[in-house]
Amino acid sequence: MLSFFPTPYPDEILYSVFARYHARSGNIKPDETLQELFNSRNIIVRPDLPYNLSYLIKNLPLLSQHTLESLIQKHTLYPMYAVFMPDSKSAILGYMKGELGTYIYRGIASSVYLPKYFRFCPKCLFENLHTFGEAYWHRLHQTPGVLVCTIHDVVLNDSIVPIWNNQWYQVGIASLENCPISNVTKNYSESTKELLRLIASDIEWLMTCDFKSLPSKELDWFHIQYIVLLIKRNLATLDRQVYEQGLRQKFLSFYGSEFLEALGINVSNNNINLFNIFRLHLEVFDPVMHLLMIRFLRHSPSTFFARKSKYKPFGKGPWLCLNPACEHYLHSVVTKLVMLLSNDLDSTYSYIKNPIGTFECDCGFQYSKIGVNLTKVDKFRFERIVTFGQLWEQKYLELNVVDRLNFQQAAYNLSFNYSKSPMTMLRKLEALWKSLNDSVEKDAG
Ligand SMILES: [Zn+2]
Ligand SMILES: [Zn+2]
Repeated sequence: MLSFFPTPYPDEILYSVFARYHARSGNIKPDETLQELFNSRNIIVRPDLPYNLSYLIKNLPLLSQHTLESLIQKHTLYPMYAVFMPDSKSAILGYMKGELGTYIYRGIASSVYLPKYFRFCPKCLFENLHTFGEAYWHRLHQTPGVLVCTIHDVVLNDSIVPIWNNQWYQVGIASLENCPISNVTKNYSESTKELLRLIASDIEWLMTCDFKSLPSKELDWFHIQYIVLLIKRNLATLDRQVYEQGLRQKFLSFYGSEFLEALGINVSNNNINLFNIFRLHLEVFDPVMHLLMIRFLRHSPSTFFARKSKYKPFGKGPWLCLNPACEHYLHSVVTKLVMLLSNDLDSTYSYIKNPIGTFECDCGFQYSKIGVNLTKVDKFRFERIVTFGQLWEQKYLELNVVDRLNFQQAAYNLSFNYSKSPMTMLRKLEALWKSLNDSVEKDAG
C-alpha cells in the first residue's frame, strides 16, 4: 500500500503525476519508485498510454477517490484513440490495466505520433505556479494535433524534456528550468492559427466528452459515414471507390500547406496511407486525420457522431419493376427492398463489400441484385428472379401439361442471369412472357 499518491491536477497527464510522486517519495533510485507504483522495476513509463495501472489502483492509499476508469479517461490519451477504435477498445484497456503484461498494443504503438518534447503553454505554466505552487504537464498539450492552448489561445512551446526517453524521474516535473519561455514561438498565418484553434478544441471535445453518452460506433460506421459524405461531394462512387487524387487536392486547398505541415501531415502523392481512415479493416490510423476529415466534410465532431446515415448501395429508390407482365414494367414503382447478408467467409462487412438486395413489386414479381449499379443500364440488371408473381402464375395454370414443362424449363434457364448484358436478359424475359400468352391462346383455341 502506498503511503501517499499525488492528486492529479486538472488535465494533468499521468506521467506528470508519477514524476511528482517520485520527487516527493524520497526514493533515490527510479527503480524503487517503479516497484512501488507498478510492481516492476523495468517498466517503461509511457506518457500517452501508461500500463500496469491495475496494480497501482489496488495499492493506492485508503480513502483514495481514484478509480482506474477515471484515471485512464481523464489523465491519459486513451479517449482520443478509443473513440476511433471501437473494436480494439477493450484490448487497449486491458493493456493499460496490465492484463496483457508489457505487450504493447500493435495498432496503437504504430500509429502514435507524439511530439518530440513535452509541450507547455507559458500562460498555463505561470497560472499553475501561482495557483498550485507547482507546474505540471497538461494532457491536452501533449496530444497529437494540439499546437495551441485552448484556454489562452497561444502557440504551445517545446520544453527541453524529451517525451520518449523514459527519463521521467530526472526531469519529470514541469518547471521554469525545463520550460524555457524565451524560445521563439512559431509565427503562423491567421488562417492557420484559426484552424489550429479549431482542431485543438475538437480534440479537447473528444478528450473530455462523456463517452457513455456517445452511442457505440463500429468500424463500419465510420467507413459508411465517410463514404456517404464523400459521395455527396462527388469524391466517391456508390461502390465505395474514393477519388483520391481529387480528394487530395481539395483537402490541401481546404487546409493549406502551412497548417498541414505544422501537424506533420504529408499530402503528397507518395504518401499512399494518407486516407487510411477510409479502409474498412482499420488497424493503424491517425486520430488527427479523422478529425481533419470530419471538418473537411463540413461537420463538427458532435454533429458527426450524431449521424444516422446508412449505406444505401442501391440508391434511394423507388426502383424499376422488371416484370413484362406488370402494367408498371420499367417504371420506378418498387419501394420494397430487403438487404440480404451473403455467405462470404468475411460476412461481417459483406453488406458493404458485396451488397445483395431483393426488390419486390406490388405485382408480386421479385428479383435480386448483387452489387451496386455502375453503368447506366445496370438499373435494368438482375442476378436472379426470385418469384414471377401472380400474373405469371395465372397464365401458367391455364397451360396444358406439355406446355407447362416447356415453360418451366425456359423460366428456370432465365431465372439466373449469367449474361453480363441486362438488356439481353430483359428481352428474353419479354419473349418468355409473350410465349406464355401465345401458348395459353393456342391451348384455348
Ligand atoms: Zn494556456
Ligand atoms: Zn410490377
